[in-house]
Amino acid sequence: MSELHKFLFEGLPVRGMLVRLTDSWQEVLRRHAESGAYPSAVTGLLGEMSAAAVLMQGNIKFNGSLVLQIMGDGPLKLAVAEVQPNFGFRATATVTGEVADGVPLSQMVNVNNQGRCAITLDPQDRLPGQQPYQGVVPLYGDRREMLESLHEVLEHYMLQSEQLDTRLVLAANDQIAAGLLIQRLPSTGEANLSGTAAAQAREDAIGQSEDYNRIAMLAASLQREELLTLDADTILHRLFWQEPLQRFVPAEGLVRPRFSCTCSRERVGRMLHGLGVAEVESILSERGEVEVGCEFCGAKYRFDPVDAAQIFLSQPQQPPASDRLQ
Ligand SMILES: [Zn+2]
Repeated sequence: MSELHKFLFEGLPVRGMLVRLTDSWQEVLRRHAESGAYPSAVTGLLGEMSAAAVLMQGNIKFNGSLVLQIMGDGPLKLAVAEVQPNFGFRATATVTGEVADGVPLSQMVNVNNQGRCAITLDPQDRLPGQQPYQGVVPLYGDRREMLESLHEVLEHYMLQSEQLDTRLVLAANDQIAAGLLIQRLPSTGEANLSGTAAAQAREDAIGQSEDYNRIAMLAASLQREELLTLDADTILHRLFWQEPLQRFVPAEGLVRPRFSCTCSRERVGRMLHGLGVAEVESILSERGEVEVGCEFCGAKYRFDPVDAAQIFLSQPQQPPASDRLQ
């Protein structure tokens, strides 16, 4: 069963999370298998993105979906992992060319250094016209050097956007997607400041916590193979047996992420409404019906001319921006 463990280090400004997606991750792959399995390097990246997105959703107090996307200029065009506040998640990737086994991030999605990583927070109770929050970073580092692993991209993002030291270890295969996150907590002094003063204090504190540096180094010693094969207790004990690690009691601290798709006939209807009546009528005249498949779960939604007419009668308003094609 999939699991997300939260923990902290007593008296130290460091917290952590460990995620293991097993049954839920296998379900993501099973749903996609009908239209052809992903190349193994893409499976690895998409699994790491799913684990990372669950960790990031677990790391924020936010009532809405967290969407992690990588858009690129290689054979992998787009990869998406989306996690709801209840840790239901879904993921999909669009591959248009050959991806050899074991290739790094750049060869999949950043051939000309034009790839991007976007993190979107879309509030559940968003007001009409309100835009979701989105942060976008390139897939290169401070000297424009290509970053070859997802964990580097996300650590860079966290540092730039949140001014928080973060260490991530991620690994995935076709059975399990797993991740370990270690993050420095803002000190109480920083928390009491507001606005630019707080940002400056966080900036000053980057890399300065010895406790964080030591624990992050221990975390980074975790091998991918260990992360993929060992259970949570064993991993945490091996890495941190000398540290004052405190697990949250299971009732609060252990959640079970699961595969869950948020697509619905209503959302597809809104998307078709957004396409416009002319476009939909042209598809109808060509094929007799409009069929939209969900990229995440494989569900098929069919609209005949009567259904389609209904869409334009009953939905006069503009669709919200979050209604993506899926
Ligand atoms: Zn779906």
